[in-house]
Amino acid sequence: MQFKQSSKMADVCYEIRGPVIEHADALEEAGHSVLRLNTGNPALFGFEAPEEILQDVIRNLSRAHGYTESRGILAARRAVAQHYQGRGLPEVGVDDIYLGNGVSELISMAVQALLDDGDEVLIPAPDFPLWTAVTTLAGGKAVHYLCDESADWLPDLDDLASKITDRTRALVIINPNNPTGAVYPRELLEGMLDLARRHQLLVFADEIYDRILYDGEIHHHAAALAPDLVCLTFSGLSKAYRVAGFRSGWLVLSGPQQHAADYLEGLGTLASMRLCPNAPAQYAVQAALGGRQSIDELVLPGGRLREQRDVAWERLNEIPGVSCVKPRGALYAFPRLDPKVHRIHDDEKFVLDLLLREKIQVVQGTGFNWPRPDHFRILTLPYADDLDAAIRRIGRFLAGYRQ
Ligand code: PLP
Repeated sequence: MQFKQSSKMADVCYEIRGPVIEHADALEEAGHSVLRLNTGNPALFGFEAPEEILQDVIRNLSRAHGYTESRGILAARRAVAQHYQGRGLPEVGVDDIYLGNGVSELISMAVQALLDDGDEVLIPAPDFPLWTAVTTLAGGKAVHYLCDESADWLPDLDDLASKITDRTRALVIINPNNPTGAVYPRELLEGMLDLARRHQLLVFADEIYDRILYDGEIHHHAAALAPDLVCLTFSGLSKAYRVAGFRSGWLVLSGPQQHAADYLEGLGTLASMRLCPNAPAQYAVQAALGGRQSIDELVLPGGRLREQRDVAWERLNEIPGVSCVKPRGALYAFPRLDPKVHRIHDDEKFVLDLLLREKIQVVQGTGFNWPRPDHFRILTLPYADDLDAAIRRIGRFLAGYRQ
């Protein structure tokens, strides 16, 4: 008797935690130390959770042993609503907020509630691959619009427009972007939103990195630029608040909800079916959004994240045959391997060879639905000295690497 996975899984991929991990685990079991640069988990790299968040969760633990409302506790939803009211979304109220077990769960619910088989969702390439995976699992078709590396990885509006069909239901905007670090200017966002407006698309704005910005970049909430569109904005505590393990995120509904009443009923049903988000972590939300703690000291000049971003970007560009667009936000760099210099045909094999030889784990570019095997993603989370050493080792590895 063989139990097989559902045929619905056939095209579902999530390479950030893909099969290469098993090799990394085996190396560690054999006594090697592996530098894991695959998941954006600040806790692994010496980032402490803000004390006031921890204290609030501990203080409320004895109250958090029961199920909560499916959407999440009122105090946390109020904190999220107030946060967005002060940032260009004055109409948002507590009933427009859903808390989730991380943004990941909410992405899954938002997509599942929308799609019929064959419905299309516009997703950037490269993308944070969960969007593509859940679209496929929901029976939909992920249609990738290209981001242009020669234009700082900004989406190409013509390409986006050319990919809209009568089956397109939603537009996913990931800003600041994982894996490229691009931060979208206002005019570009307005252009994207205008396409959504003309083609009556739901907007999914994944803005989990909206406070991790370098070089004075300004983040614009897509929802605030298009109050006339039904928009779901996603963010949470994993990155800017460094508590990824709490699994705490939120979704904000905005725009003319009367146009989406049926969809929202479905979303509500899915929220009820998961009963509620993890209750202790919900108590972290009010402390995070209402508290004194801030990520500014990490991203401003002299800040740890900013320095690490600089080191990663500089060292990568020093490697012959490697070029990297400067990340303007988020926690990653997405360098290009010049195919004329590095003839890589299979980037998963490249990543595995790098792991086996140098004990450094990165993620192949095709894992982010990038169409060619000529990129990889590296985290900018390790201390500058560790990043510097790791990227020099990647350079030495590439110098002798032939596939
Ligand atoms: N969205 C983006 C763009 C991400 O990079 C991530 C995690 O890396 C998530 C969503 C999911 O975050 P979480 O489920 O931890 O809230």
